[in-house]
This record gives sequence, C-alpha cells and structure tokens, in this order.
Amino acid sequence: MIILKSSRELSLMREAGRISARALKLAGESIEPGVTTAEIDNVVQKYIESEGAKPSFLGYGGFPASVCISVNNVVIHGIPSKNCVLKQGDIVSVDVGACFQGFHGDNAWTFPCGDISKEAQALLDATKESLFKGIEQAQAGARIGDISNAIQQYVEARSYSVVRDFVGHGVGANLHEEPSVPNFGVPGRGPRLMPGMTIAIEPMVNQGTYEVKVLDDEWTTITSDGKLSAHFEHTISITQDGPVILTLPD
Ligand code: MG
Repeated sequence: MIILKSSRELSLMREAGRISARALKLAGESIEPGVTTAEIDNVVQKYIESEGAKPSFLGYGGFPASVCISVNNVVIHGIPSKNCVLKQGDIVSVDVGACFQGFHGDNAWTFPCGDISKEAQALLDATKESLFKGIEQAQAGARIGDISNAIQQYVEARSYSVVRDFVGHGVGANLHEEPSVPNFGVPGRGPRLMPGMTIAIEPMVNQGTYEVKVLDDEWTTITSDGKLSAHFEHTISITQDGPVILTLPD
C-alpha cells in the first residue's frame, strides 16, 4: 500500500531530509586520503544525534553502522571499517538516512577522494545527472515507469548500466515503503504518482555490467566485473506543483 503523507507529516519529513542532507554534506567534507570509513561513520552519527534524530540505517535489518560507505567497485551497503583507509583517486559513495520524530530522510552521493580519473568523474557526472532526469519525471499524474525509463535512457545512452537488483523506494514512517522505484523500466507503466507520495529516487550506475554480487558479510555489494559504480539519491515529495526535493541541507 502506498502511504500518502499529510502536510504535518511532510513538514517532519522535510526536517528529517534536512538533517540527512547535512549529514551527507558533512560526510563529503570528511573525505580525504588517509581517513578511514569508520571515522566518517562516527562523525555522521554524532551529528545526526546532536540534531535529536536517529541514524536510520543503524541496526536496520542488522546493519552495524550509521552510514553505508561504498568505495570504487562497491555498489552499495559498504560497512564502515577502521581498516578501510581512503586513498587519492577513490570514488566514495555515502548513503545516509536520519529519522526525526518518526519520519525518515534518505540520500546518497558519490564523492571524489582527491583527484580522480577522467573516467571516474564522467561516471559520477552521468549518475548525478540521471538522478535529476528521474526527478524531472516525478510529476503528479505520471507513473513510476516514467522516472525509471528517464534514468535508464540517460545512463545507457552513455554506455553505462543501471543496477537491477536494487531499486529506489517509498519512504516515510518506514525507511522502505511502497512503491518500488526501479532505475529501469517502461514509460507509462507502474503506480501513478499522487500528491502526498514521498519517494527515494536512487540510480546506482555501473561502468561495466549491471550484474552485482553480495559478499559473505551479507551487505557489501560489488560489481561482478570489478569496475566502478556510483550512487546518487534524493528523497522527494510529489506535489501538484511538481517534485520537491526534501533532502537539501538548507
Ligand atoms: Mg534509499
């Protein structure tokens, strides 16, 4: 069932989104060669708690940290570790959510660590742009497939691939709600978008094959071919006046 949010609930989601976005920004500012992903997790957790919120991911399905940090060929769900030291040239995907007064924000961004290759930068640029192509389609009366298709078309036109095994989702009082928001699909198909819906759109884009595999820790998800992957995400609300991004820092 798709849960529509009241204006009171939307204002709480806006606050949860703001905290999530600031947490993400803080993570990005912490990324530099020599920093461990555990240190970034720690900084972000402290910030979220200082805002009177809770890290959405901590303990979710047993996830052991506040932030997912996925480096290079890791697609999503990387577990922060004191043994994971960032180095010049890495691309670092950070996914973070905050729960404020019972409502979640969810957002992700892939950051460069120092100078990165032209190829890596191109992947980041295309993935970020595909997110905004998807958001543009998030109009009341349109369908989920319109979002999915816009992302897929943009990505595949640049010879990248969209991950199939993981998708975007509704978000609200639960971190993951209906509907699913795939990053691939057919225009005009899927649930119709209505004012009051809140969804997380999150293209995961691979340099090579879209196939991924999950490591033995049951979280860390990597590209099957070892090539790079990027991930950008915003939580948005559907309104009569078009999509509104809830995960903005200001
Ligand atoms: Mg998400």
